[in-house]
Amino acid sequence: MATAVGHLIITMVLVELVCNYLLKLKLSRRMILAGGIAGLLPDLDIPLAWGLSWLTGERVYLHGGILHTLLPVLLSALVALALWNKRVPRSVRIIAAIIPAALLLHLALDCAYGGYATLLFPLHTGNVCPQWDTSKYLLETDAIMLVAWLIIEDIRRKGK
Ligand SMILES: [Zn+2]
Repeated sequence: MATAVGHLIITMVLVELVCNYLLKLKLSRRMILAGGIAGLLPDLDIPLAWGLSWLTGERVYLHGGILHTLLPVLLSALVALALWNKRVPRSVRIIAAIIPAALLLHLALDCAYGGYATLLFPLHTGNVCPQWDTSKYLLETDAIMLVAWLIIEDIRRKGK
C-alpha cells in the first residue's frame, strides 16, 4: 500500500493535471483537495478497524477488505453517471466523476506496491498484483509527487 500522503498528493497531482490542464475545467484548490481526499477513502478501513478494536477490546483488522475491491469504484461510477445529466451543481457532478477515478487510482497505487487479495472480489480471490518490491521506494515517490505538486502550485500562482 502507498502511504496516506502518497495517495493524497498523487491523486491531487493527477486531478489537477487531468482536470485543469488537460480538460480545462478550472477546478478550485478545494475541488482538487476533495479529489485527493477521495483518493484516500478506501483506507477508511484503517480507522474503522481502530474503532472496532477499541470497542471490542480485540484486535480487528479490516485493511484491504471490501473497500479495496472494484465494487466501490463501480458503485460510485454508477452514481456519477446517474448524476451527470441531472440538475445538480457542476461541482457535485465533477466530484461525483472524480470519486470513482480517485478510488481506482488508489487501488492501482496499492497494486503497484504489492496489492491485496481482494482486488477482484467477488470474481476472483487471490493477489493478482505484480510483486515488484516497490514499497522500498515509498518515500521517494512521495517526495517526487510533493515536488510536482509544489511546481503545479507555483505555476498556478504565477498564472493569476
Ligand atoms: Zn489502500
